[in-house]
Amino acid sequence: MGLMARLRAAAQASRPYDPEFAEAMEERWSQLPDVVRTPGQVLGRHGVGCEGTHGVFPKCNLKCTPCYHSRDANRVRVDGRHTRDQVAAQMRLLRERRGPYAHAQLIGGEVSLLPPDDHAAALAVMRRHGREPMSFTHGDFDEDYLTALALGGDGRRRFERLSFAAHFDKFMYGRRGIERPPSEKALDPYRRRFADMFLRLRREHGVRFFLAHNMTVTPGNLDEVADVVRDCADMGYGMFSFQPAAFLGDERRWKERYREATPDAVWAEIERGAGTRLDYRVFENGDVRCNRTAYGFYVGSRWYPFLRGEDRRDLAVRDTFFRRFGKVNFGGTPPGLLAVRITRVLLRHPSTALTALSWFGRTVRRVGLLRLARHRFRVRPVTFVMHQFMDAEVVAPAWELMQRGVHADDPALRGAQERLAACHYAMAHPEDGTLVPACVQHAVLDEAENAELRTLLPLIETRGPRTAGSTGQRAATAPPSDVR
Ligand code: SF4
Repeated sequence: MGLMARLRAAAQASRPYDPEFAEAMEERWSQLPDVVRTPGQVLGRHGVGCEGTHGVFPKCNLKCTPCYHSRDANRVRVDGRHTRDQVAAQMRLLRERRGPYAHAQLIGGEVSLLPPDDHAAALAVMRRHGREPMSFTHGDFDEDYLTALALGGDGRRRFERLSFAAHFDKFMYGRRGIERPPSEKALDPYRRRFADMFLRLRREHGVRFFLAHNMTVTPGNLDEVADVVRDCADMGYGMFSFQPAAFLGDERRWKERYREATPDAVWAEIERGAGTRLDYRVFENGDVRCNRTAYGFYVGSRWYPFLRGEDRRDLAVRDTFFRRFGKVNFGGTPPGLLAVRITRVLLRHPSTALTALSWFGRTVRRVGLLRLARHRFRVRPVTFVMHQFMDAEVVAPAWELMQRGVHADDPALRGAQERLAACHYAMAHPEDGTLVPACVQHAVLDEAENAELRTLLPLIETRGPRTAGSTGQRAATAPPSDVR
């Protein structure tokens, strides 16, 4: 390739944004209901939303109350080939329908039941389709599993970066060493152990990571949320996501009066843990009845928002961000390339640099130079999230009406339809080319899908329980007994 051709290729690769991505966002925005077209709306301005897999490895070896998977999920064999094929088909459709970039969750039952090579292959397939993957786990696997996932058989890095979401709460039964956690605090050593594996992986093998901490909230652990935030804030998690429990999935595992842990009550507890108010209207991801998000950072034990909703100058920064950087894809872009893209935007719009500098100065003053110096300028970005699934009893009729193009009159169903139309969390069905909200997947489609999978991938009895020194995969594939 000649010099000119090479320069042209470099300019093309570092162009601030991909026109196809911009087009996908425009389309996303045009499909949003009016109720979510707010100044802080991220969908259609800086992304198309999140995606997740389904029916790829439904089985899990812990028992949660509630569990959003259908009762047949644990009767389906984990099968690497099936997972890889299904992930590829689902990603292909997501790529086709939602454009070239998105965050996608490798989710189903328990991801670490997949052999490391199949897990790695699934992540690679997702990346090939422009998806930035995040593996969902209960976190009860060993370091040798993580190492085998991150490094190939030749001991060389397979990934520059891994993302995991680890679910920890005291209503998950069967975790090794703490079968029935007496409290959330009792799980803290396990939360730390999980994060420490990634710190070591980065130190020893240079694999960067992003960790999210997930927790289901019910009336039974609501008053422990604040302590989880406080106690785990410096463990290495970049996100704390809380899910108020919903009546969804396996009804045998609905144990409490979940509605009493209202979204406002849960958010108040997260705020208590963060030690400050968390403004979830600065940035919105879909409908705030589904998602609340607060982006910010810790310096020492204090959390600060990147932007303050009560400061008009900060809101102007947000608007500038959407205008100038909205179409730039950040997720999964290598840091060097991202820096070049940002520089190109700044060169084209020099006033943006002034806006950024004045925001930076304001933020440093807000934290205080002394405090920053005391903490050696160590800034830890941490995002707080709350995601509230809807109950199956409202999703099913709302979706059924939507399929027929009927707008519901009933306020509860209309609210559900608005939320489904603005859904931030899509799942793909390659068999008929449709995309559905995750609520619909769990409330309407999972049951028949898992019943079918149970026939396709029946369990094979091969006794041999998981031990503390194993890779975290059970040899026995018999269904665990149901929670009583
Ligand atoms: S999955 Fe359900 S609760 Fe979650 S964003 Fe979509 S519609 Fe809202």
